[in-house]
Amino acid sequence: MGKLNRRQFLGSAAAAVSAASASSAAQAATAPTTTSTERVVVIGSGFGGGVSALRLGQAGVKVLVLERGRWWPTGPNAETFPHAASPDRRIGFYNLWPELFGKRIGINPYAGLLEPVSGDGITAVTPACVGGGSLVYQGMSMQPTEALFSAAFPAGIDYEEMARVFYPRVAKMLNLQTAPDELINTPNYLAARVFAQRAQAAGFDVEKINMPIDWRYALAELRGEMKPSYTNGDGALGVNNGGKSSVDVTYLKQAMDTGNVTVAALHNVTRVARAANGQWKVYVDRTDETGTVLEHKVITTQTLIMSAGTVNTVKLLVRAGAKGDITGLPAGLGEGYGTNGDQIYVWSDQGIDLGAPQGGPVVYGSREWDNPQIANTVIQASIPPLSKSSASPNTILPKALLPAAPQIATTDVGTGHATMLVGYGVSAGRGKFVYNPLTDKVELKWPKAGDATIAKRIKERLSAIAGPTGKLINTNDIVNSTWHSLGGANIGVVCDLEGRVKGQKGLYVLDGALMPGTTCACNPSMTIAAIVERALDRIVRHDVGTVI
Ligand SMILES: Cc1cc2nc3c(=O)[nH]c(=O)nc-3n(C[C@H](O)[C@H](O)[C@H](O)COP(=O)(O)OP(=O)(O)OC[C@H]3O[C@@H](n4cnc5c(N)ncnc54)[C@H](O)[C@@H]3O)c2cc1C
Repeated sequence: MGKLNRRQFLGSAAAAVSAASASSAAQAATAPTTTSTERVVVIGSGFGGGVSALRLGQAGVKVLVLERGRWWPTGPNAETFPHAASPDRRIGFYNLWPELFGKRIGINPYAGLLEPVSGDGITAVTPACVGGGSLVYQGMSMQPTEALFSAAFPAGIDYEEMARVFYPRVAKMLNLQTAPDELINTPNYLAARVFAQRAQAAGFDVEKINMPIDWRYALAELRGEMKPSYTNGDGALGVNNGGKSSVDVTYLKQAMDTGNVTVAALHNVTRVARAANGQWKVYVDRTDETGTVLEHKVITTQTLIMSAGTVNTVKLLVRAGAKGDITGLPAGLGEGYGTNGDQIYVWSDQGIDLGAPQGGPVVYGSREWDNPQIANTVIQASIPPLSKSSASPNTILPKALLPAAPQIATTDVGTGHATMLVGYGVSAGRGKFVYNPLTDKVELKWPKAGDATIAKRIKERLSAIAGPTGKLINTNDIVNSTWHSLGGANIGVVCDLEGRVKGQKGLYVLDGALMPGTTCACNPSMTIAAIVERALDRIVRHDVGTVI
């Protein structure tokens, strides 16, 4: 994207329209439409899609997983993922570019990792890659207590079973472990140590956070055996060295190894509908890596699993309801959306050495879970090596990860006197997805001050940790954004406890959209995966051979 600002970018895109239009029209006209039938279609390959594909594949069911993004293979010293210090087209998904006749126009559209979806009052950062959020997430994996879980989830879900069977199953699949002291005591992890000391001094509990990371990779980096990826915070945009048990190399790999699961990358679902005979129709654009449509596919299936992530699952369903593609969708669809209370801060203090480069992604966190109304967790994360030039206001790509990136680049980032602090927690604020006939788009609406109570408590805690000389910038005050979109097809409201959409035989929601707008002061992935594991146990038992 270089040094274009958004206006210049859109201007050049518009200028390219006339040049591109003749060939694009020809391209769109020639993209063939094919039809096929599948036993099970899963839309999306993140946590929900990965768990669903594996458990159905193991049950002997043929599954086709449709994923709009590309594969991102790693290996020691790979150059697969972009670097925060030199962002390029691999960061942003091609949906950010204007489309004309099936072709993305402008400079360098690409099937990059992230798509920020701007709503009214909130920007939801969504992933776009095989493995979903597991490639770009930090990997914090937390299990709520029974008290917190029961306050949010329907009583029909037995916490004892979740804690005995499903959370441990996910922990094993993702090889969860905490960082070893041998690593934490190195200069690269000074910021983690300072955070822990100051949080304890402020009277807060501190603990190591479970991560899906083989920390021996980080130690190998420090011995000079691999280029830095963990140990300089660069892994915020994907870990080039590997060693991260993301969904592509765990759930999806094992799913494909069953011989029953196919993952179709660069397959963007544009519409879902129910046919007159009750089967499901899935309209898909197969694209190249620039987003140009190579083929239109219409796939018919008796079982459709929506795992496109909260925002995209709900958008597809709300649109289908508004357009009459699916009639009789349950009341409450599109409602109950929550942000998990995400608050992303930059903490800087010229008087404190926080180290640079900063190793990551995350080592320590502090839970404050006693009061279910304002239960929250705060953590320190390595600040990605954003330089003033990499996150300059003239680039839009870093905004895919952190919409306030250009503004924070003017702070002390990279000087050894700044790091990132993140808080999240229980919040009663809820937004909704609404179809707007004027724009023909599904829009996300977030109430002003929806997270005000939890945001206030997180700020108090972070202020106590930063101390009187610390400067805290809440990026949510600049651009209110979340990495943790949840709900919209809420469990017990729109879906039953196993994700079956009420009154819609063969239609399931199995991803973040199923959550009750919160994952109880915990990062979402573990609870999403555990709830979907629970659902699949029962779906395999009761629905395979009947519905499926
Ligand atoms: C920067 C960042 C950091 C995060 N850090 C953490 C963390 O530390 N711990 C944690 O637990 N969570 C974290 N999260 C959140 C976590 O990644 C998500 O909660 C989780 O990935 C959601 O899982 P999911 O199954 O709902 O869907 P996702 O993982 O979002 O997967 C959905 C998939 O569907 C695909 N898709 C979407 N639309 C279509 C379509 N139309 N056609 C085809 N495919 C489609 C997407 O490309 C994506 O791959 C983070 C998220 C971000 C963005």
